Amino acid sequence: MKVLITGAAGFIGSALSLKLLARGDTVIGVDNLNDYYDVELKKARLARTQDHPNFVDLRLDLADREGMERAFAEHKPNRVVNLAAQAGVRYSLINPHAYVESNLMGFMNILEGCRHNDVEHLVYASSSSVYGANTTMPFSVHDNVDHPLSMYAATKKSNELMAHTYSHLYRLPTTGLRFFTVYGPWGRPDMALFLFTKNILAGKPIDVFNYGKHRRDFTYVDDIVDGVIKVLDNPSAPNPEWSGAKPDSATSNAPFQIYNIGNNEPVELMRYIEVLQDCLGKKAELNLLPLQPGDVPDTYADVTDLVKNLDYKPNTRVEDGIANFVAWYKEYHGL
Ligand code: NAD
Repeated sequence: MKVLITGAAGFIGSALSLKLLARGDTVIGVDNLNDYYDVELKKARLARTQDHPNFVDLRLDLADREGMERAFAEHKPNRVVNLAAQAGVRYSLINPHAYVESNLMGFMNILEGCRHNDVEHLVYASSSSVYGANTTMPFSVHDNVDHPLSMYAATKKSNELMAHTYSHLYRLPTTGLRFFTVYGPWGRPDMALFLFTKNILAGKPIDVFNYGKHRRDFTYVDDIVDGVIKVLDNPSAPNPEWSGAKPDSATSNAPFQIYNIGNNEPVELMRYIEVLQDCLGKKAELNLLPLQPGDVPDTYADVTDLVKNLDYKPNTRVEDGIANFVAWYKEYHGL
């Protein structure tokens, strides 16, 4: 299979690229290596795949319409996984334009590339943030979600709507995956686990928002990657009951699907920090702060559809996942 992966130097994209290469697929890896966070970390992730004979390394911005058209036409991928995005809820309050450029203009170019090059399946990253704050627990893909709390969440929800249109109009098979707080080795420096680890090791206080009362459905990166592959391989998973898009008879048969990928076991933030302290053998100094604008207090994934349609459910315990992260962090930083 020839798979175009965007965000190939990213946390999830690099792990996915490695796994697809290992099973014999060709990977066309697109990334603009932007400086939202440490570019050296992105280069180090990319270095794990760059020399593989079946890896094509493209330095390209999703929003570059002609560049993306060329990439699709030249490499003719069978399937596409769109992971490149401007990520981060809090940064979307500071630089909203970056979200429109990468997540909307960029996604438009992905949809067009798929449409004009007979791509068999587009899998794209959505996010648990689309659920907003006032949703019943656990979050179900059959709930109507139309109250995003940040531009990040709004662009992710927009991706789902745009994908629905392309599935409906052009019969493009699309699957949106609502990831729930992904963590693990090679993780992002702007996310809690990385920031906490860095500060605890340096003897600095850690910022704990919502006074530590958050619950998050932390999901281990390998579970996410396995789920993406399972979904990627099954473009025609049935979708007779989709209700989130209010289907009429014309849309209900569109090859369109949305799944939650989450651990289905929310963990309190203070518990997450305790496990990290145990793994590091060091106590954290807590700087307790209120809930931040744009943040949601709790996340909890209902994964019934993923289990039912694809017999798949993430299952790594946070104790194991955090231990793996700490081992990687120390090795990467030569500690
Ligand atoms: P990441 O930031 O590590 O990876 C994204 C990669 O895309 C980066 O390497 C970046 O350089 C690249 N990129 C960004 N904008 C680009 C553009 N316009 N053109 C080309 N490349 C671009 O993020 P991640 O944690 O690997 O997340 C992957 C996807 O999953 C994102 O869409 C993110 O929104 C989504 N997601 C992640 C989480 C999580 O907890 N990590 C949770 C929910 C959703």
